Formats: sequence, structure tokens, C-alpha cells
Amino acid sequence: EQKRVQRGSVGVFNEDIYLALRNEQLMCEHLRSAISNGELFLVYQPIINAQSGALYAVEALLRWQHEDTLIPPDVFIPLAERTGQMQDIGTWVLHRACIDAAQWQFAENVSVSVNVSVIQLLDDSFIETLERVLSSSGLAPEHLHLEITESVFARNKEKVVAQINAIKRHGVSVSIDDFGTGYSSLSQLQSLQCDYIKIDRSFVQNPEEGSDTIIRATMLIAQEFHCRTIAEGIETEAQATRLTDMGADLLQGYLYAKPLTNEHLLRWYNNTQQ
Ligand code: C2E
Ligand code: MG
Ligand code: MG
Ligand code: MG
Repeated sequence: EQKRVQRGSVGVFNEDIYLALRNEQLMCEHLRSAISNGELFLVYQPIINAQSGALYAVEALLRWQHEDTLIPPDVFIPLAERTGQMQDIGTWVLHRACIDAAQWQFAENVSVSVNVSVIQLLDDSFIETLERVLSSSGLAPEHLHLEITESVFARNKEKVVAQINAIKRHGVSVSIDDFGTGYSSLSQLQSLQCDYIKIDRSFVQNPEEGSDTIIRATMLIAQEFHCRTIAEGIETEAQATRLTDMGADLLQGYLYAKPLTNEHLLRWYNNTQQ
């Protein structure tokens, strides 16, 4: 006890910081070789048409299998962003997703939706990368959607809007992810030509009156800006019904499918869609 007190906040504090830094540095080094070691892979989660139940698109979600551990993207994407690795990883993701989608033969007109970090979006070479990936994969641009989280508008707004316009000029669609959780104001949305708004799962899964209000407001905004809406995190029939009744066009969540490997996606399609 005496020892603990004696080491006091200073000693323990430094040790914690040291361990955290060392851990971050180690993770950072391991992440740097993740692509070349083949440790990154994509899983695909179906997005369903709320009216017909047909497969509409799939969202590509990144996984890092490092030794025995599957590290979730919420952990390593922020690390990649902090340590200058997001461009390389993001390009790998875009390329992989487009190649996979270009080869899907199980369904016509299924789009792939790829998450794009603000670091990628604000990079001057992003549009060139997009052009290169589209031409090398052979994927039709209308079958690619890029998901951008709402919080990007807190950054360099003019640049973000210019990049989104350039993306759209290439025939690629844009979705605003995690809508309602970020900082965008209505006036910011006005200058933005998005195609889809993704209603965050926190509103979908929270049946309180407040989240109903936010969902209804989001539906009005989507209508006004001619965007379609995708409800994320649908786990129950009740949530599916609630969101469909409130006007969601598309639904995504464990009720339909968890994120699946490319191979399992085909199996899922054959089992559920035919
Ligand atoms: P997101 O883009 O909002 O993706 C949706 C997340 O919700 C995914 O988590 C998905 O697995 C999860 N999810 C889907 N349906 C349900 C459900 O019914 N219930 C619950 N509880 N969860 C559901 P995941 O795959 O762990 O990804 C987390 C976040 O990491 C993503 O959120 C996205 O922001 C980021 N991320 C994933 N892959 C990439 C990527 O390739 N690039 C970038 N920049 N970010 C990525
Ligand atoms: Mg997303
Ligand atoms: Mg989301
Ligand atoms: Mg998210």
C-alpha cells in the first residue's frame, strides 16, 4: 500500500503512458506490414431494398487478422490515420472492393459501397486513385458508392465539397455515413450533392421518442435533397418495420446478414435471394 502511494500518480502515470506508447508503436509497425503480409481482408454486408427485400448493394468492411487476433476497424483505422498509413490502406481497400465487385456474377446491378476516411478524401491524389482503380478493375462507376462520415464537414468544408463534386462527375455515388452523429449543420448539407444518407444505428436501435424525431427529420432532409435513405444496424423485424414505415428506402443489419467474406456472400445470395 505504502509503495503504491509512494509511486503515486507520477510513477504510475508515466508507466501507463510508456506502455500505451510502446503498444501503439508496436501496433503501428505491425500495421505497416499488414498489407504485404496479406493480413487485411474485406467482408461484405448486404444492403436490402426495404420494399422488395432484394439485394441492392453491399458495404465493404475492413478486417485485420494479426496473428491470432482479429483487430476491429474502430481500433486500427484511427491508428492508420494517426500514423500516415491511411492513404495506402484506403487505396488497397478501394482496389480490392472494386476488383471483387467487378467479378460478382451472382446478381446484376449490385453496387459496392466503400468507406473513405477524411484523410483519403482530402488527399490531392484521391481522384486520380479513383480513376486508376475504376479503370484497372473494370467496375462500372455507377456500381461504386463512397461512404463519407458526416463529421468530415467539420474539416475543410470547401475542399470536401469540391472532392465530392469531382467524385460525382466520375459517375460514382456518395453516401453520408453515421448521419445525425456528426457536426454538419443544415446549411452545410445544402452545398452537398449526396445520393444516400445512412441513418446511424444508434437511432435505429434506440426506440425512444427523441430518436424517432431525429429519424423523421432525416427523412425530410433526404427528401428535400433528393437522397435515398439507408437504415443501419437493423437487428429485429420490429426495427425493420419501424424504419420502413418511417420511409427508409434501404435496410442493412444483422437481421439480413452479418458482414460476409466474398465466398460466404455468394452462398448467402444463393440461399436467400433466389
Ligand atoms: P460503418 O461504416 O458505420 O459500418 C457499420 C458498422 O456497423 C460495421 O462495423 C458493421 O459490422 C456494423 N453493423 C452492421 N450491422 C449491424 C447490426 O445489425 N448490429 C450491430 N451491432 N452492428 C452492425 P465494423 O465492420 O466493425 O466497422 C466499424 C467502422 O469502421 C465502420 O463504421 C467504418 O467507420 C470503419 N471502417 C470499416 N471498414 C473501413 C474501411 O475500409 N475504411 C474506412 N475508412 N473505415 C472503415
Ligand atoms: Mg459505412
Ligand atoms: Mg455507419
Ligand atoms: Mg460508423
